[in-house]
Amino acid sequence: MQRLSQASKERKRKHDRLKEALEVLQSATCDELTDMCFASSNDIITVLSAKFGWKSLFVLGRLVTKLPSVVSNQLNERLVAATVGELGRSTSLQEVTLMKALLNKCQDFLDFSYEDSLVDISQIASFPFRRILFPPTTVCFECGWNLSPQNRPARVTVFENAETIPGIKFTLKCSNCKINFGYAMFGDTQRGYRFYNKPRPYVESSNVTYLDRRLCLQQIHLA
Ligand SMILES: [Zn+2]
Repeated sequence: MQRLSQASKERKRKHDRLKEALEVLQSATCDELTDMCFASSNDIITVLSAKFGWKSLFVLGRLVTKLPSVVSNQLNERLVAATVGELGRSTSLQEVTLMKALLNKCQDFLDFSYEDSLVDISQIASFPFRRILFPPTTVCFECGWNLSPQNRPARVTVFENAETIPGIKFTLKCSNCKINFGYAMFGDTQRGYRFYNKPRPYVESSNVTYLDRRLCLQQIHLA
């Protein structure tokens, strides 16, 4: 019992220290951070994220570092001001300058591509993570029962812009009224199949091929 209480006290002490560490990071001034010596880019991202928030870090950080150096200060400031306004957080020019200087030391962060990373993971796992298609509901429209997977997910091909992207499709079924819920339609052979009220992002061209709806609309307008 005493050991349990000791462990509980220790956990509380750690929680308090973690909270304190976060408060220190959040209240650190630009001058203090400029002087700091960081061991890795991961440490820089951690500090910047705690100080400015992840959204500012991604959006503002990417913007200021992607702008070519020839961009005038006036345009630079206008773009930064628009982004800061969008983020709903007041950020001073000194903070932006600091963020830019620190992010320039994090080439791995600046080069990171979410899409490329998913492609790599998909290849390693032999599972197409990039496009995962599933019905727009997890409950039956008729009886309100929770839907369950009908069979193993099927591999599909998604056509998007100029790309052919491997994907995976989940189909669900109501075990009460036996209605199937596919990506684009729901129903069964007796009652027939209906499209969902809200158009899906991809148009079902066959059981295993899907086209980006915007791409289809563009083709129709061009015809
Ligand atoms: Zn049902």
